[in-house]
Amino acid sequence: MSEKLKWIENELQSLKDAGLYNRIRTLGSPQGAWLVVDGRRVLNFCSNNYLGLANHPRLVKAAQAAVDQYGVGPAAVRTIAGTMDLHVALEQRMAAFKGVPSAITLQSGFTANLATLPALVGKDDAIFSDELNHASIIDSSRLSGAQIIRYAHADPDDLERKLSEQRAAFPRAVVVTDGVFSMDGDIAPLDKIFEIAQKYEAILMVDDAHGEGVLGRGGRGIVDHFGLHGKVDVEVGTMSKAFGVVGGVVAGNPLVVEWLRQRGRPFLFSSAMTVPDVAACLAALDILEESTELVDRLWKNANYFKTAMKGLGFDTGSSVTPITPIMLGEAPLAQQFSRELFEQDVFAMAIGFPTVPRGKARIRVMISAAHDQADLDKGLEAFARVGKKLGVIA
Ligand SMILES: *Cc1c(COP(=O)(O)O)cnc(C)c1O
Repeated sequence: MSEKLKWIENELQSLKDAGLYNRIRTLGSPQGAWLVVDGRRVLNFCSNNYLGLANHPRLVKAAQAAVDQYGVGPAAVRTIAGTMDLHVALEQRMAAFKGVPSAITLQSGFTANLATLPALVGKDDAIFSDELNHASIIDSSRLSGAQIIRYAHADPDDLERKLSEQRAAFPRAVVVTDGVFSMDGDIAPLDKIFEIAQKYEAILMVDDAHGEGVLGRGGRGIVDHFGLHGKVDVEVGTMSKAFGVVGGVVAGNPLVVEWLRQRGRPFLFSSAMTVPDVAACLAALDILEESTELVDRLWKNANYFKTAMKGLGFDTGSSVTPITPIMLGEAPLAQQFSRELFEQDVFAMAIGFPTVPRGKARIRVMISAAHDQADLDKGLEAFARVGKKLGVIA
């Protein structure tokens, strides 16, 4: 047998040895507060289904109706085969929801980021990037060829220092940050970052994947949370989290959106969101615009759970959102904790390097509006039992 792929076997083994090997659970049910995993009912603390929309009857019905009318797929890229009125409607509705002039949809949040930075900056330019930004921002930055200048996490002073030292060397610059940081649940100080980006004439881009449907009035996102409408040039978002579907969006300045229609490579060279996805997203917008009930319940649940976890003695890090990290340190401990929780019918994944820095492994609990009081209490009991057993809490 050829030896040319032997290195992969070795690498996989070292991942297993380090407790960093991903074992993916297979679900036999929709995403909801409870899941069926290997025939067993477990409480779901893993998904980004913040509002319980992934299996919401109105989204399901909208998707079914759209498939009856339009079929399933878009059949080619939009610049060549034309674009469905459904996609145009979603873009108009997303822009209106976020209170900005324009929006463009892409296949996912990841490709929305990949489309954006290379369209805005090139090899002579610079990207000032929070050191904990999402992998899709990092990859998009590299793809652009621009010089990447990292600033300390959520630190406007360090951003200003770097801009004052280096901004003048580049014709164009982008300041880019996650809105909500997905592994810690803290929020970028976007109001301060805006002031600084403005002062140094840098384009401001925020990735609001975990803010969409969560932050701001009725889930209108981080720009709404800070009241920065019309000030943030580029707002990337996803319909794969709180919206419960899949899809990406870039909203904000109409020039940027128009430019992405001309020069966004994942827009030009990859087909659009599918018909049922778009229809389900439109139904999600209907629900969000009708009432803040789901968003309110999400926050109530998150505050209840987080307060109780702190009361038990767990370290929930710097989270101020429904993302609740339980800081454990070493990856093998986090993996063991996750396995023990699963034995108690609680599904909460361990997260280690490279998703978070080495030595900062954790269990990440994702609270949802789909959870009820009994679910949260059941989860708390399981955490208390396993935490004591493993000596994490007294
Ligand atoms: C999840 C996430 C993405 C990717 O979104 P998808 O729609 O799943 O591709 C991008 N950026 C951030 C910050 C995310 O958390």
